[in-house]
Amino acid sequence: MAGETVLIVEDEAPMRRVLTDNFAFAGYSVRTAADGAAGLDEAMRGDVDLILLDIMLPKVNGYEICRYLRASGATTPIVMLTAKGQESDIVLGLNLGADDYVTKPFSVNELLARAAALLRRTRGEAPQVHQFGPFTLDLAARELKRGGAPITLTPKEFGLLALLAGKPGRAFTREEILSRVWGHDVFVTWRSVDRCVTTLRTKIEANPRRPAYIHTVREVGYRFDAPQA
Ligand code: CA
Repeated sequence: MAGETVLIVEDEAPMRRVLTDNFAFAGYSVRTAADGAAGLDEAMRGDVDLILLDIMLPKVNGYEICRYLRASGATTPIVMLTAKGQESDIVLGLNLGADDYVTKPFSVNELLARAAALLRRTRGEAPQVHQFGPFTLDLAARELKRGGAPITLTPKEFGLLALLAGKPGRAFTREEILSRVWGHDVFVTWRSVDRCVTTLRTKIEANPRRPAYIHTVREVGYRFDAPQA
């Protein structure tokens, strides 16, 4: 973390202070912006490693910031700070290029953990092999094994699992999953994603109706959780 710079764009002073104190204590350099216009200016300087972005902001809102940054080619990871119960906000933010979100009120420790995970992935330290339960997912070999025995997945099932398992705890919208796994195939709909999740669950979940790995996130999409061993 040392030397990594986080930009906190948040108009509520108490929240900004709490975040600033905690991220500084965790070893980050912290910059802050109290409105969207200042936040966008800071973000566009291109020297921050991570952006914590409130949605409802004076002058320029968080969505517009997200959209503008991604449209201008900036790949700086963005964690949205969203209000509770606004799933449509989360979907919109993720579709506009945010990398993750936390819902207010959130635990600062959880946010720190997500920030650290996001930065690790950004630095290219994402592992090529994921272990969960009895499974080993080898991204390079494009292979899923259960206790050493290969499990046959369709290319889409593999792509879906690789996408979700590569970012445990991160919810993906159906739209994101479609664009990343199916690409620009015009004949697919969100139902294709749901069907693929259903068949994948039958292959990896002990009880597909009560999944341990691939969870449905209501109003948003799907999320992979790896239970602690
Ligand atoms: Ca706000």
